[in-house]
Amino acid sequence: MFDSLSDRLNGILDGLKRRGALKEADVSAAMREVRVALLEADVALPVVKSFIAKVKEKAVGQTVLKSVTPGQQVIKIVHDELVAMLGTESAPVNTAGLPPVAIMMVGLQGSGKTTSTAKIAKRLTEKDSKKVLMASLDTRRPAAQEQLKVLGEQIGVKTLPIIKGQLPADIARRAMEAGRLQGFDVVMLDTAGRLHVDAALMAEVQAVRDGVQPLETLLVADSLTGQDAVNVAQEFDGQVGITGVVLTRMDGDGRGGAALSMRAVTGKPIKLIGTGEKADALEDFHPERVASRILG
Ligand code: GDP
Repeated sequence: MFDSLSDRLNGILDGLKRRGALKEADVSAAMREVRVALLEADVALPVVKSFIAKVKEKAVGQTVLKSVTPGQQVIKIVHDELVAMLGTESAPVNTAGLPPVAIMMVGLQGSGKTTSTAKIAKRLTEKDSKKVLMASLDTRRPAAQEQLKVLGEQIGVKTLPIIKGQLPADIARRAMEAGRLQGFDVVMLDTAGRLHVDAALMAEVQAVRDGVQPLETLLVADSLTGQDAVNVAQEFDGQVGITGVVLTRMDGDGRGGAALSMRAVTGKPIKLIGTGEKADALEDFHPERVASRILG
């Protein structure tokens, strides 16, 4: 395994103890290690570069403290900056609007969109006592609408009855209408994914958005896909406008660098993380924990 970043920085900076202030050359050497650590954690390269520049600016010239080693001191600056960039405040899913409010889930196929839709619906139902209706707008994969229905039955959340042959935007409007007539607080719309972002996908999601004006548009992204996840986030935010991110597969081996990349690129909060396949494997995002994990 790799040495921890802390060990590596201590190795580089140990000689500094009696020298007073952190000098440019020392900080640059330390930042090379930070760069490696961030890349190992799967943070996207442009994000690594801008992060390093910021940290360097903060670190150069700082007086070396007596109480900690210079390595620890730099680690703290790096850690604090990571937390600041990841977002220091918690960002709950917003349901404060005239009911029914629409929450639109977007993302690539296989990112965990349908699973996350059900997880969020379950949480809103059980923790926030919301009356939630789920609707699958995925008319491309034959089994997708059935999949959401089955999940709904498992977690005790209603799904919109399936009518074959309807367009996604029409299903969305029907879901909102059912939500109004039947007194639902929240309507969750699980849009179709694709293997890659393409024009047809964006047009479809835009049509849904324009029809229902969702209060939340949550991008679901697989935390293990690193750089790809960032490109996807950029596309969706630019073309559809997202209000937050759900990062899935945070139970995997990845170090969670995608969280930093997503946040840096879109400026939108990571609202929730998926930590498993089960319907209750959903957690609030804790920047501190992710920062420590990224640093290894
Ligand atoms: P969709 O195509 O985006 O709707 O993706 P699905 O919701 O169908 O999820 C694809 C696969 O990923 C399924 O096998 C899910 O059980 C799994 N999955 C979703 N979220 C997570 C997660 O947070 N952790 C793990 N380990 N698996 C997940």
